[in-house]
Order: sequence, then C-alpha cells, then structure tokens
Amino acid sequence: MKTKIFRQFFSLFLFAAFISINAQIKPTIYVLATGGTIAGQGATAVASGYKPGTITVDQLLSAVPSIKDIADIKAEQVANIGSQDMNDEVWLKLSKRVNELVSQKDVDGIVITHGTDTQEETAYFLNLTVKSNKPVVLVGSMRPSTAISADGPRNIYNAVACAVAKESIGKGVMVVMDDRILGADDIAKTHTLSVGTFENPNFGHLGIMYNGKPVYTREPVKKHTTASEFDITNLNKLPRVEIILSYSNATSLFVDAAVKAGAKGIVTAGVGNGNITTEIQNALADAVKKSGVAVVRSSRILSGPTTQWDEIDDDKYGFSTSWYVNPYRSRVLLMLALTKTTDYKEIQRMFTEY
Ligand code: GLU
Repeated sequence: MKTKIFRQFFSLFLFAAFISINAQIKPTIYVLATGGTIAGQGATAVASGYKPGTITVDQLLSAVPSIKDIADIKAEQVANIGSQDMNDEVWLKLSKRVNELVSQKDVDGIVITHGTDTQEETAYFLNLTVKSNKPVVLVGSMRPSTAISADGPRNIYNAVACAVAKESIGKGVMVVMDDRILGADDIAKTHTLSVGTFENPNFGHLGIMYNGKPVYTREPVKKHTTASEFDITNLNKLPRVEIILSYSNATSLFVDAAVKAGAKGIVTAGVGNGNITTEIQNALADAVKKSGVAVVRSSRILSGPTTQWDEIDDDKYGFSTSWYVNPYRSRVLLMLALTKTTDYKEIQRMFTEY
C-alpha cells in the first residue's frame, strides 16, 4: 500500500516537474537594433523634432518588459543610425549576422529594429538573402520613444510575438507595424507621419496581430529566403545601381552622370506604366549598348505592374521591366541580380519571380 502511494506521489511529482520545465522553455529571439525613430529621442513629449538612433537596444527593450513573458530575448546593437543613412555595408553585415544566428539550433527567430524611411529596402534585401524559414521580423515606429503614445513599445511586443509564433515560419521576411503584418515582397512606406504608414499596395498585408498573436490571411506570393538564388556570404560590396526619376521635361542629365560614375545598373522610376521621355530612353539605350549597363524600367506610381512591351519595345533596347517591384526594391533586386548575370532576359526572369 505504502509503495503504491509512493509511486503515485512520485509520478505526480514527475508530471509537475515536466509541466514547470516546459513552461520555462521559451523561444529564443534575437533583437538586432539598427536605430531609427524607434530609438529616437525628442526634446519633449509633444516635440515633432527628434534625433533618430539615440537610445540603445537595452533602453528600447526596457520599455516593453512583458516581452520577457513570451521569449528569451538576446539583444545586439548592429548600428544606431537614421535609416536614411542605411547602406550596403550595414546590409551585408546584418544579413550575414542574421544567417549566422538562424543557423543555430537554439535561435527561434529574429526581430530587427529599423528606421522606417528605408525599411522596405532592408526588408526586401533580407527577404532575398536570408537562408532560413525561421521568422525574421522588422519593426520600427513613427513616433520617437519620448513621445506621448509612442508606438515603438507596442510594435516591438507585436514583432516579438509574431516571431515566436509557429504560424510565422516560412513566411519570408516581414514588417510588423500598427498591428499589421506586411510581406517584404510588396512593402512600401506610404505616409510621412502616420503610424500605419506601411502597406502592401499590390497584394494586401499578410495578416494582423490580434491579442498578441498573428492572424494570417495570405501567403507571400514571390520567391524568398530558402528559395532565393542569391548568396551574399562571400560578398563585401554590391554592384552600384542608381535610380533615375521621370517627370515632364526630364532630360538625360542623370542617366549620363550615372553611367559616367560607373553605375552597373539603372532603375527608372518612370511615369505611368514605366514610361520615360524619349531623351532618357535614347540615353538608356546607349548605356546598354555602349557601356553594358543593365536597365530595369519601374514606375513612380505606388501600385500596379510595370509591364513589358506596352509603349516601349524592351527587347529592342535590351531593357527589363520590374513588374510589381517598386523602384527602391528594384534597385535592391538589380544589385543582387548583377552579382550573377548581366543578361537582360535573365534579369527579367528574376523580376517576375522575386
Ligand atoms: N529618418 C528616420 C529613420 O528612418 C525616421 C523615420 C522613422 O524611423 O520612422 O530612421
């Protein structure tokens, strides 16, 4: 009888120990900080002026103590800049560090704090160069950490909650802001001040964060991460690609300057369906023929594809078109494309796949 009671007591003890160990094992999330408004400080709680990239990652995280309930957080400061100063060097460093971390068994996901100005470019760069299906989530804020109703702490909580969720695996790189989850395949900043600035203008957002959990309503449609053919492991720099804007009376001035400066690629932010003035078109045709520059036509319009062969005979000039990739992300894709090929048809394939 005594042995039976002892056995029952012992199994109960083992069961309780198992439950409590499990309750303590939380996913490990690395927060990599790069700066931006989310790490910015203003003079007062209502001041519109502030300096981005002034507080450290530890100060940032101390505003959201509750994330410790959902994840084991490890923090690293990769940079501390306004994202208008984001550059190839930080991109390569960031992507290499993310790849190192996600290859570790004990890392479950990555959250990257980043200024919103160029967040769409970094998100897309990582979407094409991170080789893992573990969640990688970028997050920023539109209000500095010192503002009334600063949006940073809520966004960080949501980003971590998104990164720990099993449903977030395999979705490619995402941006979480203002309770929404946005895919890096179609990300665009659409408002200079609003906390809901990010949109997926062509495909719609991936889902929402609701009560600290992701609710997905679509899958990313373009190739990303583990399916991407781009590998930056051994790269220390990226090919130079410039963006040339179109507007009425636009001349070939900036095309000529870009070619002279040694650009390997030019993306046009054309009018309408990627149209460009005749003068720019002729200058670009020359750039392809005489200097071997790769040209991708994109559009300054927020949504819709830039399609081939509508008003411009792209094959005649050796141009590619960007389809749904906006000029800023087209620059990223063309830089990566040029690490593999200069053939405009091959570049065109990439723009339809990524
Ligand atoms: N220029 C800053 C940056 O991109 C402010 C924009 C923001 O973070 O919201 O870092």
